[in-house]
Amino acid sequence: MIKLITFDLDDTLWDNGPVIRRAIHEGYSWLLEYCPDLANMHDIASLDLLKDKIKNSTPDLEHRVSESRIVGIQQALQSIGYESSIARTIAKEAFTRFHHWRHQVELFGDAKETIAQLAQEYRLGIITNGNADVNRLGLGEFFEFTVNSEDMNRSKPDPEMFHHALKLAGVRPKQAIHIGDNLITDVRGAAEIGMKTVWFNPDGKPIGKDDTVPDFTVKTLAEIPAAIRQNR
Ligand SMILES: [Mg+2]
Repeated sequence: MIKLITFDLDDTLWDNGPVIRRAIHEGYSWLLEYCPDLANMHDIASLDLLKDKIKNSTPDLEHRVSESRIVGIQQALQSIGYESSIARTIAKEAFTRFHHWRHQVELFGDAKETIAQLAQEYRLGIITNGNADVNRLGLGEFFEFTVNSEDMNRSKPDPEMFHHALKLAGVRPKQAIHIGDNLITDVRGAAEIGMKTVWFNPDGKPIGKDDTVPDFTVKTLAEIPAAIRQNR
């Protein structure tokens, strides 16, 4: 009997590519207004790559996407002559702009209704590797908790991300189902600790021979309640 449903966020409740591109653009535009010299050193793509480089090369930042972005901007500003603490202050301000736009998402058409429906029957939680906050998306009332990489200092498919969610809810793996768009981070991660899985696959992607086979596959979020009911 399923008691808990956990959701991934990015690309499961909205199409995240355009959101992130817009957020990066807005953060960069803001930076150039205040620090026009930055354009001589970095374009928008190279500044963004700096974030990934820092995240991948600094063990302490491996799972901290927000801080990696701030440090990336800070280092870029320092490289054009800004003093460290001033660079840090400006970087944090630019990140605030980015993070604002990162929450300007357009939920999939059936997302809110499906979540509201599921919330009447099940307890709901979030397990995300990203830095979006459901409270800023008008969905906070439906979810009991969020497990995110920044707080956990680890990322899905690490089993601890899922174990922690179960612990917060006080349920066993078989009583919980995880829903996400990624066959590795979501489906494999949750299945490996014994949770049931729903793969959100709107584009009809094929399952590879090495992939973990999800318990259910849905093309739209609206199909989820019926899929879960089958599991009873
Ligand atoms: Mg996702």
